[in-house]
Amino acid sequence: MPKKLLFEYAYIGSKIEKDVTIEFDDKGIITAVSKGNSDHKQITKGIALPGFVNGHSHSFQYGLRNYTSTPQDFKDWVKNYLYDLVENLTLESMKRLTKKAYEEMLISGITTVAEFHYLYKDLPPATSPKEVINGIIEVAKEVGIRLRLFLSGYDLGSKPAQKKFQMSFEELKKIVTELHFQYLNDPQISIGVAPHSLHGASEEMILGLSDLANELDIPCHIHLAEQYSDIEEARESFNDTPLGYLNRLGIITERLHIIHGIWLTQEEIKLFGKKGGTLVCNPITNMYLGDGIVNLDEYYQYGVPVSLGTDANTQINLAEESLMAEYLQRLKFLKMGVLTAKSGEDLWRIRLKMITENGAKSLDLPIGSIEVGKYCDLAVINLDTELNSEQKIHFTIGHAISEVIVGGQKINLNC
Ligand SMILES: [Zn+2]
Repeated sequence: MPKKLLFEYAYIGSKIEKDVTIEFDDKGIITAVSKGNSDHKQITKGIALPGFVNGHSHSFQYGLRNYTSTPQDFKDWVKNYLYDLVENLTLESMKRLTKKAYEEMLISGITTVAEFHYLYKDLPPATSPKEVINGIIEVAKEVGIRLRLFLSGYDLGSKPAQKKFQMSFEELKKIVTELHFQYLNDPQISIGVAPHSLHGASEEMILGLSDLANELDIPCHIHLAEQYSDIEEARESFNDTPLGYLNRLGIITERLHIIHGIWLTQEEIKLFGKKGGTLVCNPITNMYLGDGIVNLDEYYQYGVPVSLGTDANTQINLAEESLMAEYLQRLKFLKMGVLTAKSGEDLWRIRLKMITENGAKSLDLPIGSIEVGKYCDLAVINLDTELNSEQKIHFTIGHAISEVIVGGQKINLNC
């Protein structure tokens, strides 16, 4: 017997419909969506939106909120803040920070997170990378968030903190394969792969993980062209640009999703669009780290789906990320309406698409819209104002979340 939820309004297709019933099965998958129900006793007030999809997170970096001094630049941040935190983490403190981050995500309407995880070793009392990885999965199960866990390959570098990240490709391949099959039929947990970056992953690691993603039919994420110095370093190491190097390796396909992509040229964005990859953009982290402003204008021009992530988790609100993504275009081009002109859509639809439908593409999961066959993951906004429904979505998403549902199950937001 399918279960059902009734809403005053719901965002179905590209329309806001009134009096909507959503039915779902035991796995939390939507089996029917109908309009015009009349059972007003059970109805939930507000607008049910697809649950938000966080395309990129390092949950343990929530711990950097405890640091009160200000880094001077990205390299200072990595060396004296990030690595300091990493060197002092235990399994329990990592789990505690992850739990805080995931709870905050749920409160702001995020129902799925792409966790880009690269911490594996020397987190006492854990004695194996799998024990650390299981710690993340346990936290996701405990709080109820849907998790695509991207296990990152990092085999370069000699700093003490980097030792905690390092694993050989063969060892990582074994773990990824085991976990992938262990969770293959689990509706809440799934596995992805992620060569960390051009400075963290060797060519063997990048090629190996790309092949493994094809073999297991799972997505592959990589940090690329975040800082301008990434361009200079790629020129020195590979005599190429970061994207040019990946193209030479032959791994740019629909399965590859790049994180950041700030310093790509127009020609590279065009090429990336042709090959079908997606971009995961992290505007608040990019502002925080002084990375630069991504050229969304060109990503939209060449049809690259743009999704968003909370990355360093300095603040967790994906709706706010979507607003910042668009505001930064205003600063970059010194005009308003850059993305609306390019896509022909209203701004609230562009914002919503980034954090739902496009996020689903970068995670390759059946989420991001309210339709049959997708998981029943919802973020309900409810605010009594004179605004009409579209205005409510534009002004309040992320600030007036009254209910969050993952796989048909209501999440307790009083954590
Ligand atoms: Zn990142």
